[in-house]
Amino acid sequence: MSERPRLTVLSGPSGVGKSTVVAHMRKQFPEVWLSVSATTRHPRPGERDGVQYHFVDNEQFDKLVANGELLEWAVFAGNRYGTPRQAVVDKLDKGEPVLLEIDLQGARQVKESMPEAQLVFLAPPSWDELVRRLAGRGTESQDVIDERLAAARIELAAEAEFDTTLVNTSVEQVAAELLALLGVA
Ligand code: ADP
Ligand code: 5GP
Repeated sequence: MSERPRLTVLSGPSGVGKSTVVAHMRKQFPEVWLSVSATTRHPRPGERDGVQYHFVDNEQFDKLVANGELLEWAVFAGNRYGTPRQAVVDKLDKGEPVLLEIDLQGARQVKESMPEAQLVFLAPPSWDELVRRLAGRGTESQDVIDERLAAARIELAAEAEFDTTLVNTSVEQVAAELLALLGVA
């Protein structure tokens, strides 16, 4: 039997429910380790520095890039996001599973640098439901929603680049499927 891939990338359009699914999974299995990205985006209400993201300014992000501290990074809807390399390397060195929740551009970079990674795409049940979820979250202005929906069309068109697609109809079911892919339960 071959070993399970130890690095898993979860991608999917903004508003599809990535954070919700991962939060549900980690409530049941707190040992599932999720990389905390750096971003230049401003925190949403309730988001805390070092928990959902490391919130940094442009200058700090420039330094992370210049020092080679990011495993991958991308511009998404006007902000920069990147995965701190060291924490991921440390976990993988210990043989522990690693989960990255990143966008399509980041997923492509990881596939390039770590071909053994497994790429999981989270898809919405329908386009209309995606629009409802993104708007219903109530965290972005209409301009930003439109920008994210434009990105969503590109992300949905790239689904075939991923190893597996999970459709987020039920949070509980998708969380269980993701846990199985991670080899946790
Ligand atoms: P993402 O992290 O992919 O941008 P979120 O996890 O923030 O998306 O989810 C966007 C919105 O959709 C949230 O309001 C969330 O409560 C809702 N949501 C997530 N999954 C489901 C689901 N399976 N059914 C209905 N609503 C969902
Ligand atoms: P949000 O602003 O909604 O938290 O995230 C916007 C998008 O950025 C999502 O698709 C999310 O997966 C992605 N993202 C979050 N962190 C990273 C990262 O470190 N790298 C890349 N490439 N994308 C990220």
